[in-house]
Amino acid sequence: MEKIVYNLKENRSKVSLPTNLGFGQVFTDHVFEIDYNEEKGWHNPSIKVLENLQMHPATMFIHYGQAVFDGLKAFKDEDGNVSIFRPERHLQRLNNSSRRLCIPEIDVEFVLSALKELIWIEKDWIPTSKGESLYIRPFIYGVDPFLGVKPASNYKLIILLSPVGAYYPEGFKPVKILVTNDYVRAVRKGIGECKTPANYAASLYAGEEAKKLGFTQVLWLDGVEQKYIEEVGTMNIFIRFKNEVATPKLSGSILPGVTRDSVIQLLKEWKMNITERVISIDEVVSEFKKGNVLEVFGTGTAAIVSMVGLLKYKEIEMKFDFTHSDNLAARLFDKITEIQYGKGEDKFNWLTHVSYKAVEV
Ligand SMILES: *Cc1c(COP(=O)(O)O)cnc(C)c1O
Repeated sequence: MEKIVYNLKENRSKVSLPTNLGFGQVFTDHVFEIDYNEEKGWHNPSIKVLENLQMHPATMFIHYGQAVFDGLKAFKDEDGNVSIFRPERHLQRLNNSSRRLCIPEIDVEFVLSALKELIWIEKDWIPTSKGESLYIRPFIYGVDPFLGVKPASNYKLIILLSPVGAYYPEGFKPVKILVTNDYVRAVRKGIGECKTPANYAASLYAGEEAKKLGFTQVLWLDGVEQKYIEEVGTMNIFIRFKNEVATPKLSGSILPGVTRDSVIQLLKEWKMNITERVISIDEVVSEFKKGNVLEVFGTGTAAIVSMVGLLKYKEIEMKFDFTHSDNLAARLFDKITEIQYGKGEDKFNWLTHVSYKAVEV
């Protein structure tokens, strides 16, 4: 692969981060960029100053949505060591999303090495308070100026970095989730398992309706019968029954979450009965009424593990108390963040360490 060209900001002053970071509002000084064309493949890698994009109004992805993205995080521990949480897995998922959208795949190893360089350059932007991290957003989109539906011939990959705090306005407190059967997000054999903008566009209307009613997000049911639970807007969902922790199996319409996978690995390690299966909303309701649903929680990179304090389906309000000591969601949250902040043993090799490499900065 070609050498990365560096075009860094001059006179870089000390980074001062706002005290309340929120999510996705602050961006670092630089991005990684690489282009694709049919002749050269992926070429022209650079780390450069973040600036506005210039594009033709006919740029294909704006009209036909040919784009994919992913979201992962980097952390800094107390000694200043920087690591990224499961980056290969995220970049492989980016490739899986790309394949379905007819976007050329990237060389995971090369992009990961570039990402490490970028993060090292921006390491002063990584916040260190509990709950804070550096959110990494790689995305690829079709750039040809052309009005007509077909895959683009030229693409751009950009990696954008954003120091973040908690994803939800509630912070790390329990969220309220509305089960919708008025709208669906995705159908099997569609693009539900890809991180592609169309899925989020499809989710907005239901999300806004839920917000007006005081809910944080929507829990989607399957696209065909609206009978089986699928996932939340940006999280996979877990139901803790009395003798089982269950999560919907990956059917093709659900995003295969990396946090979902981490949680499953931890629960197996803790010898809990964790199953990936079909879960109907009727089962959740009837088991709740019998007192057999102990917890509901969501998992995702942004929120990590998020307790669901209220789950509403039709007129039924299922409330969950998270103040008791036997709180699995909190235990999972603590375990994962402990590993992320370098405080616990990284048994599963989830961290990729970033250290000084070739760049003079
Ligand atoms: C990103 C995302 C998730 C969570 O995936 P992670 O890899 O854990 O961050 C779940 N559902 C949807 C729809 C998502 O976009």
